[in-house]
Amino acid sequence: MAEGIVTDGREISPGIGTGVKEAATVDPFADTLARHGLPLVRDRVHTLQVNTGYLCNLQCRHCHLEAGPGRKEIMSRETMEAVVSFARRFPFQVVDVTGGAPELVPGLPFLVEGLAPLAPRLMLRTNLSAVSGAEWESLLALCGAHRVVLVASFPSTNPSQADAQRGAGVTEAAIAVLKRLNAAGYGVEGTGLELDLVSNPVGAFLPVSNESAERTFRTDLLRKWGVAFHHLYTFANVPMGRFRTWLLRTENYDRYLKMLTDGFNPSAVERLMCRTLLSVSWDGFLYDCDFNLAVGRPHGDRKAHVSDLRELPLPGAPIVIGDYCYACTAGSGFT
Ligand code: SF4
Repeated sequence: MAEGIVTDGREISPGIGTGVKEAATVDPFADTLARHGLPLVRDRVHTLQVNTGYLCNLQCRHCHLEAGPGRKEIMSRETMEAVVSFARRFPFQVVDVTGGAPELVPGLPFLVEGLAPLAPRLMLRTNLSAVSGAEWESLLALCGAHRVVLVASFPSTNPSQADAQRGAGVTEAAIAVLKRLNAAGYGVEGTGLELDLVSNPVGAFLPVSNESAERTFRTDLLRKWGVAFHHLYTFANVPMGRFRTWLLRTENYDRYLKMLTDGFNPSAVERLMCRTLLSVSWDGFLYDCDFNLAVGRPHGDRKAHVSDLRELPLPGAPIVIGDYCYACTAGSGFT
């Protein structure tokens, strides 16, 4: 099997450190959409995703961005100012701050304080292990004061499975942080402090349905550790970055791609997040989603910076797609 991310049957901009070639066994995603008579174009944009960079304390096996402790790409104060100004010019319903580990980016409090008054819903992704002690307490107080929704990655309620994906001891540390969050009111009904979890499979398989996974997580977390949360979101791992490398090394790549394409769910297309979201990279450029960011395929027909954008994409505008999109349309989809 040739190494390279799955593509639309043509050469595309390389992923991080990868050669890019067509995967012979996959029907181009664009053809599958056409066969079902499904256009994938933009709807009204209401969400801004802000990727603060690739620096992370972990090196998770599934990470499509290949984030890790050695990565130097983080959002500067200047870019944060440009992002806040962008969110002021084009009010969004939702702003979703992600990484890497946003907690490790020095200007995060500035970004949170700048964005919080500009969107009804500000979300901050956390891996629950990037910072600790006084630093974590201060971030927690800031998030609580601004009613920031915390979205924590938590792949499995089985510690040995989760540690295999994220690193030894990570689950135990994450549980301690979840308990602390509950004690601060996060995840507790009636406090207005929303705590959500995201889970992705720990191997080369698709997630179970969101409803069933949420039920299992709720029961397990409560029974084993007395931890509560609001919602759980599951998603399929995208075969790019470190996950792709792992699939190839374990000879699961072809089987996984077949699973994704066989699992194509036409009804997921209408709800895909790229229809309503713009993603801004750590250096301030715009993408249709975080996966296009990972492979360096910008929004629109040329690379545009948040400082330069004069209008949001209009309904009907095209979206950059690739065969990795199959990960978003398999099963119940990634919306
Ligand atoms: S990877 Fe997913 S979110 Fe990104 S363009 Fe494809 S379908 Fe949309």
